[in-house]
Amino acid sequence: MPRCIVVDAVHPDPAAIAAAARILRAGGLVAFPTETVYGLGANALDADAVGRIFVAKGRPADDPLIVHVLDAAGAGDRTLAAAWPPIAARLTDAFWPGPLTVVVPRGPAIPPIVTACLPMVALRAPAHPVARALLAAAGVPIAAPSANPFGRTSPTTAAHVIAGLGDRVDLVLDGGPCAIGVESTVVDCTTDPIRVLRPGGIPLEAIRAIAPDAIAAEAIVPEAIVPDAALPAADAAASPSPGTQPRHYAPRARLVLVTGNDGDIVATIRAAAVRLAAAGKRVGLLVAAGDEVPVDAERIVAVCLAPLDNPSLAAHRLFAALHALDAQDVDVILARDWPARDLGLALQDRLRRAAQGGTVLADGTAAPVMARS
Ligand code: AMP
Ligand code: MG
Repeated sequence: MPRCIVVDAVHPDPAAIAAAARILRAGGLVAFPTETVYGLGANALDADAVGRIFVAKGRPADDPLIVHVLDAAGAGDRTLAAAWPPIAARLTDAFWPGPLTVVVPRGPAIPPIVTACLPMVALRAPAHPVARALLAAAGVPIAAPSANPFGRTSPTTAAHVIAGLGDRVDLVLDGGPCAIGVESTVVDCTTDPIRVLRPGGIPLEAIRAIAPDAIAAEAIVPEAIVPDAALPAADAAASPSPGTQPRHYAPRARLVLVTGNDGDIVATIRAAAVRLAAAGKRVGLLVAAGDEVPVDAERIVAVCLAPLDNPSLAAHRLFAALHALDAQDVDVILARDWPARDLGLALQDRLRRAAQGGTVLADGTAAPVMARS
């Protein structure tokens, strides 16, 4: 087990922060809380330290990292960002510190390993007091992807980090559960109009209030829409090879996303749960408040994410729910789809990428893709 220090989420102990900062400056790895998810941090200016992040996560070298900074003044100093486009300034004025990542031209201080050799760098100023204290004490920008093995569910607690990475991290700062629980919105500011590369903690509507012509993230089109009747067979099929995009955020259990018309979604989940349980599977259900589903002490566990009209709360709870269902050893997770507004777009994105069991169209007629706006 790695060394873990519990810190107050608002007023972290300076001695704990100093110990973590020393590890970072010496080239080590520190997991720390942010308002989105826990990050696995290394000194972004130290290529060897950053290399350890890729090894610890099993992350492919062509997947660039987000660099964390204290503020726009630090980000725009021309050693990290070679240029600071006016739209990056407007977005960061509006949303920093917070769950927004801007992609800008890479500055000379950033080693190529950080950006997978891309000429752009992704920068974010986190709002979490522990992350900010760590950045201030370390005195260097911190490269930090989510602190989980590549392709698996992101961590929203220190316990998730320790369960996933164990001794591969030198120190874990435990600042309690993350407030937002879903990763940052990534916006490419090097194109005109700007492009949202990944939906996340800042809703698309809020980005468009600043940049009305912002292009939405590419919809994730499921590889296979499997007919409802194929569910048990889908469960028995071999897993796809791990880490292949767009598979991501995946729990150990096979997750099947059920989309379509709302009433049909619940009916489909109900029927599939009963069928899978009768076939001897342990089934987890990710549902909304008020969804009528069967629950059975032996075989069917239901987790309510939120009321259907609060997709932001559901997004906040998704990763913890997936970790909890994994801990209960379910074989298959049937997840309902959610509306796209607010953090619902990020929630739809994470569910589609986690759905290594495919996506079921509940009524056989609705459009099977993520909502675009
Ligand atoms: P995470 O695993 O949460 O750290 O995700 C980082 C994501 O940010 C990547 O998967 C990319 O989508 C995006 N990103 C990071 N750096 C860059 C970059 N230099 N250019 C474009 N996108 C980037
Ligand atoms: Mg990640």
